[in-house]
Amino acid sequence: MKYKIIRGFHDILPGQIERWHFIENTARQVFESYGFNELRIPVLESTDIYCTGIGDTTDIVEKEMYSFDDRDGSSLTLRPEGTAGVVRSFIENSFYKKTPVSKFYYMGPMFRHERPQKGRYRGFNQIGCEYFGSQSAAADAEIILMLWYFFQKIGFTDSVKIEINSIGDEESRENYKTALVNYLTPLKEGLCDQCNRKLGTNPLRILDCKNESCREITVNAPKITDYLSEASGVHFNKLIQILDDLSVPYNVNDKIVRGLDYYTETVFEFTTDKLGSQNAIAAGGRYNNLVEKMGGPPTPATGFALGLERIVLLHEQLSDKEFKFPTDVYIAWIGEDTFIPAMKIATELRNNGKSVYIEHESKSIKSQLKRANKLDAGYTLIIGEEELKSGRIIVRNMKKSSEESIGIEDTGSLLSYIN
Ligand code: ATP
Ligand code: MG
Repeated sequence: MKYKIIRGFHDILPGQIERWHFIENTARQVFESYGFNELRIPVLESTDIYCTGIGDTTDIVEKEMYSFDDRDGSSLTLRPEGTAGVVRSFIENSFYKKTPVSKFYYMGPMFRHERPQKGRYRGFNQIGCEYFGSQSAAADAEIILMLWYFFQKIGFTDSVKIEINSIGDEESRENYKTALVNYLTPLKEGLCDQCNRKLGTNPLRILDCKNESCREITVNAPKITDYLSEASGVHFNKLIQILDDLSVPYNVNDKIVRGLDYYTETVFEFTTDKLGSQNAIAAGGRYNNLVEKMGGPPTPATGFALGLERIVLLHEQLSDKEFKFPTDVYIAWIGEDTFIPAMKIATELRNNGKSVYIEHESKSIKSQLKRANKLDAGYTLIIGEEELKSGRIIVRNMKKSSEESIGIEDTGSLLSYIN
């Protein structure tokens, strides 16, 4: 084969896309019911947006970005995540002047140069929400609750766990970093090379290293929740209180620190034990400093992103719901003179929202009915010379194997029969 798709990328084919539509449409419906409106941002932004927005010492910026020079020499990057671009747009469009809070969702492709494996790709899709302008733990609670209901709605009742943690404000993190580095330094021989580097640059990230020996060492490390400042402690307790009061099940997991620099206070992940090591299907948290860091006014914010590929994989495992492209009506026509009348009926039905299949080559009735069966059409209509003469057609309900004779121009009766 001469042309092949790039490694780590994938086509989503008819037959698969119906499941994607179901998940995407449910997300739209649930997120909009919580007051989030869609914001579409470009796939390409200037590279510095991501360096500032995500942080220079993160995996994404260090080694995963698809960056290249534009024709004028300026550096561009294919978006590796959505938050930095949404914040850029929030500031550029002065949303902070328009309404006290702003709530956006986005969906679409992301690009990261990772080692491809099941549930991890170089081109993948996320849906994310960002909520600007509320300082309150209630805002964190509500987006966690919203995600929880979204997962219930697509049928992930027993397969998803909520893991929450707090990484506190700057004061909490500075105190904690010192304690963590003090604990890890004498044990650093046992840490992987990457974690040894992180000890000097971003020690919190050592806690979410996937390496077994690093994990063993961090099991007994000091817990960040013991180092929270008073304000951060109050914030975290309020979140927990609300989740308890609303009976949302969660686990406090002190190893969740998230890979991106911008998080403050609340961090969380939605995980599953059914996808092997790619176990996070959604992740997020609060990022109170990012808007200001990117040049806007100080604005508290909270949000998350979910990974659609992993959700689709899990959905395939859990749901026996059948997804197929629907054909409501198949119109069979026999003889050249019947084609135009058949097309007229097809147009009427399509204008009324029905999906209609009609051949454009003259075919035998046998082969047309075979096709109707293959498409699993709900109804079949047959127009031959006889029907044209009598002005009546036979409409067959394929599921019930019943039929009805209807006037060829009586669209009203036809629609009420097939509805
Ligand atoms: P991981 O620890 O698995 O690398 P991450 O912390 O890099 O995840 P985020 O940047 O928080 O992930 O992205 C949110 C979600 O997007 C993840 O929980 C995951 O479901 C999905 N995701 C991230 N990277 C990929 C990828 N390369 N391929 C498919 N899905 C991904
Ligand atoms: Mg990653």
